[in-house]
Amino acid sequence: MRVGITGGIGSGKTTVCRVFETLGIPVYYADAEAKRLYSENKDLQAALLNAYGPEVLQNGEVNKVFLRSLVFGKPEAARKLNSLVHPFVFEHYEQWCLANKNKPYTIKEAAILFESGSYKRIHRVIGVVAPEALRIQRAMNRDHCSREDVLQRMQKQLPQDELAKKCQYLIHNDEGQSIIEQVRDLHRKLLEESTLDWPYLT
Ligand code: ATP
Repeated sequence: MRVGITGGIGSGKTTVCRVFETLGIPVYYADAEAKRLYSENKDLQAALLNAYGPEVLQNGEVNKVFLRSLVFGKPEAARKLNSLVHPFVFEHYEQWCLANKNKPYTIKEAAILFESGSYKRIHRVIGVVAPEALRIQRAMNRDHCSREDVLQRMQKQLPQDELAKKCQYLIHNDEGQSIIEQVRDLHRKLLEESTLDWPYLT
């Protein structure tokens, strides 16, 4: 069974995933894998070269500063870049799932699981939620950035109440309830549910 984990900035997705990993569940970190593909996948580099010209490569690596300058503040250009990169990440995730098919379930962690459409190859989704003030403070502490920076990134994401409605399970990472206990309970449930035949989400 394929499970997704999503949540807004500072909600604690990665922290929750680390707990699942201690239970032996493999986690696919979509953002990190996409970044790795940029530097390692020659077919993706060729597609970028074809779309953006020779400036996109520098010493055999993708020039991320150049790419960022092409899409920063330009939603249409960002959409085009995403649509170019997405099939490579999609294919990589499919291969990763095949390599882990002996596990009862696997997890894909993605901040924009719904916005990117990648929930469509997933059976169940866990949302990690936390009060907004706490999320802002966590992100500011972790990234050493201003409140405005965090708010700007937050605005590009689905509001938390909308995200929560789309999820089959929720983990409340508000520091009032133990996430270890919540993950342990959910893990038991997912082990049971992984024996059933789920359709992909639509
Ligand atoms: P982003 O989408 O911004 O990458 P995320 O949802 O993956 O964030 P994490 O990186 O897991 O969130 O958490 C954000 C910060 O808050 C981290 O520094 C993490 O250590 C801290 N944090 C998360 N949950 C807790 C918690 N329950 N108690 C204390 N600190 C926490």
